[in-house]
Amino acid sequence: MVSCLLSLNKASLKPTATTFFFFAACLILSALSSSASFQPSRTLLSRPLNKLRRPVVILISCDGFRFGYQHKTPTPNIKRLIDQGTEAETGLIPVFPTLTFPNHNSIATGLYPAYHGIVSNSFTDPNTGDGFTQKIFNPKWWLGEPLWETVVNQGLNAATYSWPGAEVNKGSWTCPKQFCSPFNESVPFEDRIDTILSYFDLPTSEIPALVTLYLEDPDAQGHEVGPDHPRITDAVARIDKLLGRMIAGLEKRRVFKDVHVILVGDHGMVGTCDQRLIFLKELAPWINIPENWIERYTPLLSIRPPPNVSAADIVAKINEGLESGKVGNGKYLKVYLKENLPSRLHYSDSDRITPIVGLAAEGFKVEMNKTEAKECAGAHGYDNAFFSMRSIFIGHGPRFPKGVKVPSFENIQIYNLVTSILNLHGARNNGTSSFPKAVLLPRYNKNVLVS
Ligand SMILES: [Zn+2]
Repeated sequence: MVSCLLSLNKASLKPTATTFFFFAACLILSALSSSASFQPSRTLLSRPLNKLRRPVVILISCDGFRFGYQHKTPTPNIKRLIDQGTEAETGLIPVFPTLTFPNHNSIATGLYPAYHGIVSNSFTDPNTGDGFTQKIFNPKWWLGEPLWETVVNQGLNAATYSWPGAEVNKGSWTCPKQFCSPFNESVPFEDRIDTILSYFDLPTSEIPALVTLYLEDPDAQGHEVGPDHPRITDAVARIDKLLGRMIAGLEKRRVFKDVHVILVGDHGMVGTCDQRLIFLKELAPWINIPENWIERYTPLLSIRPPPNVSAADIVAKINEGLESGKVGNGKYLKVYLKENLPSRLHYSDSDRITPIVGLAAEGFKVEMNKTEAKECAGAHGYDNAFFSMRSIFIGHGPRFPKGVKVPSFENIQIYNLVTSILNLHGARNNGTSSFPKAVLLPRYNKNVLVS
């Protein structure tokens, strides 16, 4: 905790948000240092590289891989990475909102969404009136410095495969054809793995220091059938098999022990059904909310009233209705002015965040009217405190101690973890600078401790 306090100023980004996110990070670090299961020996050094000249990280994200999915079926390859590496014992904590684009950009930049700018999967910038969608790659939306930009800015190659936001040109990163594959769901997962493996056939000096890979499963199945369906089990088994293909390919090239493999997901998944719905139309005795005020319905309700309408009055009327007992499931939705949201969500310090945000209880959905839509399925986007929203973190490679469990941590810590492994100077971010030291083995450098 002392080191946290000492480095407070260094890690500050925004004075208004600093205290909260930094204190939370310090708590996580305190938990790390007190965990009985987390005792990487400081007498151990990382394992020296055999074939590669410099450290390499392969960062893989499986969309919607809820923590615990790895136990649904035998997953020998995931188990191998866990047994021979480091695992977040109770999962990786996503940032809020627990949606795909905000979380992938937090993993890539180490910033909370309010600071990296991708505050939801789609939203409007009130200052310009422009709308952001998942297919917009104009750099003006994407704040912060993603890992691939950090890598190429420092003279190394980076490669991205389908990672959300990686097609955006930033700094020295121009999404080069050779190393930047856009998202294309028609490309079989096996081909994506083989493309990544082909990078290791390049001359050693050209091998990318960072390779990112995005797989859209098992999120796709989770949305359709919920987290507890045999199709999820099948999807998990398939991912494990893909990891086996990657490990075998790296072994064939005699680099598996040299490469750092980091396996994560962006968020979890929870089952939803038609008994767990909240209809805004039922608020009519208190307030009629025009549809064009609503940027997103669920699981986070995002409302932007016109500037001449008091957001505080709207919040008061909505909550009065929800608490009246006369709105179905009203007690399972709570609406806030964004500045009054729990500070642990870090979700206020951006104009792109709507002035009014509602949080649905776990597994509940918000709609305007009852519809014929199929409601029993799966969703994410909820409060990141829900265990169902957690994903996985597994690290394997020379800097990760073997067979070690670390307490859960937020995914904003991954940026510093990767830059530390690659021995690069990272951009400022919301992660804590001392986090990598708490997780990684000291760097091997001719028997001299360099951490
Ligand atoms: Zn996702």
